[in-house]
Amino acid sequence: MTTPERAPPTGLETRLARMIAECGPISIDAFMAQALYDPQAGYYATRQPLGSHGDFTTSPEISQIFGELIGLWVAQSWLDLGSPSPFHLIELGPGRGTLMADMLRVCQRVPGFMAAVHLHLVETNPALKEAQRNALGVMPAHWHDTLDGVPDGDSFIVANEFLDCLPVRQFVRGEQGWHEKLVGLDVAQRLTFGLGPPMPEPPGCAQPDDSVGAVREVAPGLPTLVETIAKRLRTASGRALIIDYGDGSGQAGDSFQALFRHQKIHALDHVGEADLTAHVDFAALISLARACGLGTSGPATQRQFLQSLGIETRRDALIHANPHCESDLTRSVERLIGEAHMGGLFHVVALESPLNAAAGPPIGL
Ligand code: SAH
Repeated sequence: MTTPERAPPTGLETRLARMIAECGPISIDAFMAQALYDPQAGYYATRQPLGSHGDFTTSPEISQIFGELIGLWVAQSWLDLGSPSPFHLIELGPGRGTLMADMLRVCQRVPGFMAAVHLHLVETNPALKEAQRNALGVMPAHWHDTLDGVPDGDSFIVANEFLDCLPVRQFVRGEQGWHEKLVGLDVAQRLTFGLGPPMPEPPGCAQPDDSVGAVREVAPGLPTLVETIAKRLRTASGRALIIDYGDGSGQAGDSFQALFRHQKIHALDHVGEADLTAHVDFAALISLARACGLGTSGPATQRQFLQSLGIETRRDALIHANPHCESDLTRSVERLIGEAHMGGLFHVVALESPLNAAAGPPIGL
């Protein structure tokens, strides 16, 4: 018997259900890790997730202006830090390669940049690696499964919608204390949410004024990722630019969601076929980065950041050159900077090597 509104179980759901039946419920982060990264059936191992035929659309896929402005940020940062040569330009989770291609179009106008740059793309998805290779054309680049694989040296790192893939654990404040939210089985052996037993201590992310029903999230992989970035930026100069869903408010809330063909669906349906994300906790990111010895700028909203990099001037110049594209350009820029759209929902943070001390803050933040 299947709940009528639920999609039929995928092979991966059936496999997870068997495991849960044998070993008991699993945490949300364990579920996310399996659904996203199972080598045979995980979403990021098997799918081409982006674009109109995929499940979601990212900022660089909305308008070339996004990548061009990020290119401007990288080029200016490279100049701010004394034009190091050689240096690494690293993108984490480069999707279809659109952002990198748009960035490089701007960067190549800066004398000396292309002669100094070594390009590195950190990507696990074979279909996307191929798309990135096509987007970059003749530009030489290196691919890595993890950031650890990139050689040491002065580095600029860009990550757009990468951290929201990090699996999260969730904790719920109940009458009796805190419980971890788990994935278990219903009577039909379908995956369902449930709560673990009351925890002996509140989780570290809990706040004293959290009321009953409050949900707290924590990404157990975030400290390791920040430490990996910090290790690189402590030994050589550079900056990282991180752009993602989420904010720095530290407010409680359940942000775990699944997108399938551009629709929000039940987060336990289409297991392995849907994109799973959670908002990035920018307050946690900043405090981890500072604890690792990095400087930080932001968070700014994506709206503030792109406006201060001149998105409206660039839009108007493109409209002037292509008047027939006016409504498309106006609409796509509004998606990027509208308060109710990505402009308000996304935030931007820069992490700074302690060796950059003399350079001042990056543009836009
Ligand atoms: N930055 C791109 C794509 C964002 S989608 C854009 O803005 O369009 C997330 C990207 O991160 C995809 O390329 C996905 O394959 C990659 N990714 C997700 N988890 C990853 C991991 N653990 N290691 C490396 N890449 C990962």
